[in-house]
Amino acid sequence: MPTANAKRAVIIGAGIAGTATAIALRKAGWQAALFEAHPNAAEDIGAFLTLAGNGMRALAELDATDPVTAVGFPLTSLRVLDARGTELAHAPLGDVAEPALRYRCLRRGELNAALQAEAVRRGIPLRHGARLVSLSDGPAGVTARFADGTTATADVLIGADGLNSTVRRLIAPGSRPGYAGQRVFYGCTGTAPATDGTGHITMVRGSAAAFGFAVSPAGETYWFARVAGEPLTTRELARPAPDVWRNQLIPLLREDSTPAAGIVAAPTGTVMVTNATEMPLGTPWHSGRTLLVGDAAHAASPATGQGASTALEDAVILAKALRDSPDPHTAFTLYDACRRPRVERNITVSGGISRAGHAPGSPATSPPAPRTDDDTLHRQLAWDTSLG
Ligand SMILES: Cc1cc2nc3c(=O)[nH]c(=O)nc-3n(C[C@H](O)[C@H](O)[C@H](O)COP(=O)(O)OP(=O)(O)OC[C@H]3O[C@@H](n4cnc5c(N)ncnc54)[C@H](O)[C@@H]3O)c2cc1C
Repeated sequence: MPTANAKRAVIIGAGIAGTATAIALRKAGWQAALFEAHPNAAEDIGAFLTLAGNGMRALAELDATDPVTAVGFPLTSLRVLDARGTELAHAPLGDVAEPALRYRCLRRGELNAALQAEAVRRGIPLRHGARLVSLSDGPAGVTARFADGTTATADVLIGADGLNSTVRRLIAPGSRPGYAGQRVFYGCTGTAPATDGTGHITMVRGSAAAFGFAVSPAGETYWFARVAGEPLTTRELARPAPDVWRNQLIPLLREDSTPAAGIVAAPTGTVMVTNATEMPLGTPWHSGRTLLVGDAAHAASPATGQGASTALEDAVILAKALRDSPDPHTAFTLYDACRRPRVERNITVSGGISRAGHAPGSPATSPPAPRTDDDTLHRQLAWDTSLG
């Protein structure tokens, strides 16, 4: 519980990075407050993601495993199929012996809502409908201004406002996300042809698309497909057109003898599409009392499936840096030194997979993805150790 004269943090964005950062800062004795542009918990029910063992480890360091394992379902193995549907590999996924560290497949909105509820349960103020428009930074503090005319002042401001971050535009106006070479289709259906059960994620090295799917215990199939091509226009992205996307995708998947085409052709459920995007390496992350975390700082193409997990790592490591440093500048410099090599490697590897059109784990020419069981990372995440 923070004391009355505890240091204060304003956190912009109550997504995965923002909520976890608020929880971590409170654990470090700070007063954290969350400001979220959406008018409510924004249950974006269609989209899903996988949290890897490293993300689950970060949650465990925050004592926040339970609210997350209450949603979604565990994944304990990875299968890889070739374009003929032949199984190339079937291996355990991460640290399956430790239930709290098992990979998890979740709807992004449910994960967000669970983390927001946990932050509020711990006494963290969360204001929905608060859209940051500007900030002013000075020696005594930083002040956020919101579209409704209200303000909030604190010792630090954390920009956890995602891919199209306003905070980043204000402190690093030259840094913008770019296209990583693939369109990403993703969906969920309860009427896909039966595959072989739950508990594993299957990656298909298709001839024209990298495809992946996992089946929940309730029989819903979550799937994605990454396809090389020109980026979709803003107009195309805004169009909710599941049948258009299905019709684009199915001919590419029908070239192969895998379950992919049958899953996408299932008549019910959601189908969405987005462009794979990534931040340029070397993006400045901090200025004065303001720092970026999560996608705002280091969004990567989704090929390695690490965006949410690295956002959770950010939260723990930033809170430790602020807890153990005499001032924000020292903390932000330490944080940058700890985080940049790992997350920029993820941007490079994930973008390399996307541009090469390979599925994760395929013999791409890029170096291996950042490990999820790295000793340095474990030390950095361990709450009771210092970062320095
Ligand atoms: C298709 C796809 C598949 C993916 N699959 C995976 C996966 O399998 N595994 C994985 O780990 N990651 C995956 N990711 C990435 C993952 O979703 C992101 O890395 C993660 O959501 C980033 O969290 P964040 O909190 O930084 O940003 P966000 O989740 O985008 O949250 C930002 C928040 O800030 C708010 N906000 C924005 N502007 C303002 C403002 N001006 N004022 C106040 N609030 C504001 C937004 O409303 C939002 O709530 C995937 C991404 C995509 C696109």
